[in-house]
Amino acid sequence: MTADDLLARHRAVLPSWMPLYYAEPIELVAGSGRRVTDAQGRSYLDFFGGVLTNMIGYDIPEIREAVERQLRTGLVHTSTLYLIRQQVELAEKVTSLAGIPDARVFFTNSGTEANEAALLVATNHRRSHQILAVRNSYHGRSYATMGITGHRSWTASAHNPLQVAWLHSGERLRGLLARLPEADRMDAAVEDLREVLATQTSGDVACLIAEPIQGVGGFVAPPDGLFAGWRKVLDEHGILLISDEVQTGWGRTGEHFWGYQAHGVTPDLLTFAKGIGNGFALAGVVGRADIMESVPAISFSTFGGNPLCTAAGNAVLDYLRDHDLQANAARVGAILLDGLRATVADLDGVAEVRGKGLMLAVEFVRPGGLEPDPALAAGVLEACRAGGLLVGKGGLHGNVLRMGPPLTLTEDEAREGLAILVEAIRSAVAAEAAR
Ligand code: PMP
Repeated sequence: MTADDLLARHRAVLPSWMPLYYAEPIELVAGSGRRVTDAQGRSYLDFFGGVLTNMIGYDIPEIREAVERQLRTGLVHTSTLYLIRQQVELAEKVTSLAGIPDARVFFTNSGTEANEAALLVATNHRRSHQILAVRNSYHGRSYATMGITGHRSWTASAHNPLQVAWLHSGERLRGLLARLPEADRMDAAVEDLREVLATQTSGDVACLIAEPIQGVGGFVAPPDGLFAGWRKVLDEHGILLISDEVQTGWGRTGEHFWGYQAHGVTPDLLTFAKGIGNGFALAGVVGRADIMESVPAISFSTFGGNPLCTAAGNAVLDYLRDHDLQANAARVGAILLDGLRATVADLDGVAEVRGKGLMLAVEFVRPGGLEPDPALAAGVLEACRAGGLLVGKGGLHGNVLRMGPPLTLTEDEAREGLAILVEAIRSAVAAEAAR
């Protein structure tokens, strides 16, 4: 069967609102280490990992063996009505890593569900359905999480069940904060919170939810310390702080294990997903026991925290610790960031090279200004593919190239990917200028 047949069949039975990358979409059929192979036998270095989901690499023996051991027991699921040893062990690891005192964790199957669970406990604890969320954020594709997502291309179809007010946070190139000197942006964002609270809410708000670095939004980081500035205001009202660490968790930013640590403040609740399962459906919310216990009705999950996925999660966290992958993310990420800054940051058409650790982005604009150029980003994506490298796209305007390789990326692989990236960016910028 050709790739075209599969694409036609895909289009016949899957909804059109599920986007596919590339003019000719890729079918991946195998993976090993940091490389994947498509149905035509072409190999790619993978700098995107689905969307920052492949944290350790493909077909890693320690993880495969842990999953195979569980499969051999014949027990893949039981439901949370039974004791699950793997789940308890993973909960012990996650609560001790989270940095939140006296924490409890509830496992889910996706980041969307993790944020749903966080909203459930926060709204019950505070007896309020008023939520503060951030412009340009992404929190999931369910009813409530689309309602708190500040990114119209993802939310235009959601009819919001929550009362949400939107905050400025980390705009760097466009928007109100971007017009201020960098040193003034944090105070302005805190002032914005005060104003939004006073003018758009009753003050009786359940929570503020924010990503330490906006993922889907194009790897946009608020000023370090903003969560602490917000926290002072939130504490005056008893409002909870939720850190959505679905993309920023597990050491990906290199400098910290959690994104919130760049802000010098501990959230009340933290949501995680993606990397912890290294491809298995595993996510959750971890938080202060008094908040986590505030749901009055009983609840359970058929698949959340099942033996197979939590076996994978335990192996992933052990691997992460044994190989000090946070330090690797810092070291190898610096090769990429410095390399990109030295080669492409000054090109007309590149507005900014930014990021931390192995969460790196390049933002593309029309020559001579700041008008977003999604066509240029798409051109770079295609050129990278042709060169044997998979990367991602994102940002409010689709004009940001995103890189989130496995945290096991080696220095040689970083240099190999960098060379492909630089060549792809230079050739796409030249082609765009000639248009
Ligand atoms: N929060 C953030 C910050 C995300 O990036 C995502 C997924 N891109 C989600 C939540 C939702 O996770 P999932 O796709 O696993 O439902």
